[in-house]
Amino acid sequence: MKTETNSTKCPGVALESLDELWFQVAGTRCNLECSHCFISCSPTNDKFGYLSLETVRSQLEDSVRHGVREYYFTGGEPFLNKELVPILELTLQYGPATVLTNATFLKSEWIERLRKAEDDSGYCLEFRVSIDGPDAATNDPIRGEGTFEKAVQGVALLVEHGFLPIITMTRVWDEVDDQKVLGQFREVLADHGYRRARLKILPRLKIGAEAERTEGYGKFDRVTHELLEDFDMGQLICNHSRVVTDRGIAVCPILLDSPGAIMGETLDEANREFPLAYGACFTCYQYGAICTNAASSSMEG
Ligand code: SF4
Ligand code: SF4
Repeated sequence: MKTETNSTKCPGVALESLDELWFQVAGTRCNLECSHCFISCSPTNDKFGYLSLETVRSQLEDSVRHGVREYYFTGGEPFLNKELVPILELTLQYGPATVLTNATFLKSEWIERLRKAEDDSGYCLEFRVSIDGPDAATNDPIRGEGTFEKAVQGVALLVEHGFLPIITMTRVWDEVDDQKVLGQFREVLADHGYRRARLKILPRLKIGAEAERTEGYGKFDRVTHELLEDFDMGQLICNHSRVVTDRGIAVCPILLDSPGAIMGETLDEANREFPLAYGACFTCYQYGAICTNAASSSMEG
């Protein structure tokens, strides 16, 4: 895994406002072991651990003071954390929440409780489900045998309970095929009861397992001061969010495992400039908004 940095002359990004707070709620534990996972999650990766309900509660309380407006839950696979459902029930008292899941082992009883939690809250609960292509032949070599079918069943369960998940797929095909892939995916999802599905294609982040699968970033794949002239820094998640992990507050959900990514113990300590010194920052610069729920119009289904 390449983690080349060039922190001497690279530009930095300030935390303009803390609009979003992420929780690495399952650490680096995942029931899958996808060959492109940019933080190399797996059933045995304990580099980052689970967050407890009490940890989340105390960060939620602190987040109010910082003006946080929405919350995201990721891992690893969030549903591996046995406290996830109560954590989401609690969070929906503070603001809208989004869960990033692979949807391969959702249980009806959890989704029923979450349906009720959203109904009882003034805020919405979103799901982002990662599936890497419109069929098992595209998805399973990356995410594991049988995962396409399980994930599509998970999507159907969410739809049955009135959720409209955003399906995110990492582009493991040529960019010119995007529209074809989106069209195929819409048909497959419609066959499973999800019409007019929300779809979002994500670029590959060439770190973690993906750097082993294909290639890491080259030394010129870096953000420079010149590139940032007239660039909307709001496109970068690190400009308006931070991530709670069991090892401290990280700059973003992408660089967790990179040197310097843990910025402090508290949100106050993590409120400082961060150097855009990593190859992954170049991908954020190129594509923008890759961590948000919004899809660009050409990508949305
Ligand atoms: S890409 Fe997602 S589902 Fe796959 S191993 Fe990583 S965290 Fe798990
Ligand atoms: S990887 Fe992206 S979100 Fe993370 S610090 Fe770099 S530009 Fe910001």
